Amino acid sequence: MEDHFGRQINYLRISITDRCNLRCLYCMPPEGITTTSRDEILRMEELLRVAEVAQQLGITKFRLTGGEPLLRKGVIPFIRSLALLPGVEDIAVTTNGTLLLELGEQLRDAGVRRLNISLDTLDSDKFHRITRGGSLKQVYDGIQKALEIGFDPVKLNVVALRNFNDREWVDFARLTVDHPLHVRFIELMPIGASWTMSGNSFVSCEEVKSVIEQGLGKLNRAKRGVQGSGPAEYYTLPNSKGSIGFIHAMSNHFCADCNRLRLTADGKLRPCLHDQHEVDLRDALRSGVGDKELQRLFRKAVSLKPANHHVATGAPEAGRGMCQIGG
Ligand code: SAM
Ligand code: SF4
Repeated sequence: MEDHFGRQINYLRISITDRCNLRCLYCMPPEGITTTSRDEILRMEELLRVAEVAQQLGITKFRLTGGEPLLRKGVIPFIRSLALLPGVEDIAVTTNGTLLLELGEQLRDAGVRRLNISLDTLDSDKFHRITRGGSLKQVYDGIQKALEIGFDPVKLNVVALRNFNDREWVDFARLTVDHPLHVRFIELMPIGASWTMSGNSFVSCEEVKSVIEQGLGKLNRAKRGVQGSGPAEYYTLPNSKGSIGFIHAMSNHFCADCNRLRLTADGKLRPCLHDQHEVDLRDALRSGVGDKELQRLFRKAVSLKPANHHVATGAPEAGRGMCQIGG
């Protein structure tokens, strides 16, 4: 599918649940979000039907996210079935890492090759604080496991936060020397609970890069992108096994190359993370329409993709949090 701006859309990010076992300060309020009731979220067979139609339209790459995708019952058989669809080339997962020790091997065997693990600090007390109760050791063990059993690439997503992890950016960057980890710094976006964080937490990727260069010397632009590099710009330190990426989420740098649609857990196709337009697939699925109608709805969502988002200039809010849209 091609949108009005000549972009090829071949990537679908699916939020398979809006539930989570952590409560990151910038993502969720302390009590959690009001989760969608069980019968409102798409059933696994409905998700598979959507993926089938997506693949008929040339979508070859899928990412499962949430909420915490590994909490969803049936996630492993779902991935197995997804991997068997003709034309599916790539299945990745974005996870908070808490269940990787338990599910890593099953995920790999089902067909996932690439993992993004979110981790905003290397200090256990701070981790406990930012996730409102999470255990760093659990995630750390999950990351070790992911590397041991051959996920490649393993990316660590770090939301850059002033007065929280600013003294750790250099340590995160250093991790890439000895480990094949791709550490990606993400700019905080005004979505979900992020505005409730105290103080001015936003930091630009330019600032993070300059702090890392002050500590470790000039970063070299990576010769080759990391697989599934999407909107990140990658750099390396000398003789490093991994890389350092920057996702300028608040600037429009990456909109020109946007190749994705998102599916919310309750079955809405979302043309852009930062735009409230949605196309409902759930009612269509449940009223028994054929593939042609679902394809039409996909094309409609593609036709609604804006040229760029305008969050940095005070555009309307995303309408839902990241855990609902699928970050
Ligand atoms: N629970 C999984 C996880 O944490 O990786 C998947 C869902 S989570 C919503 C996906 C990503 O969105 C995480 O890397 C998280 O840090 C990021 N995220 C959530 N809220 C954000 C915000 N306001 N700004 C930037 N990134 C955010
Ligand atoms: Fe859960 Fe991920 Fe949101 Fe943290 S960022 S609360 S782990 S969905």
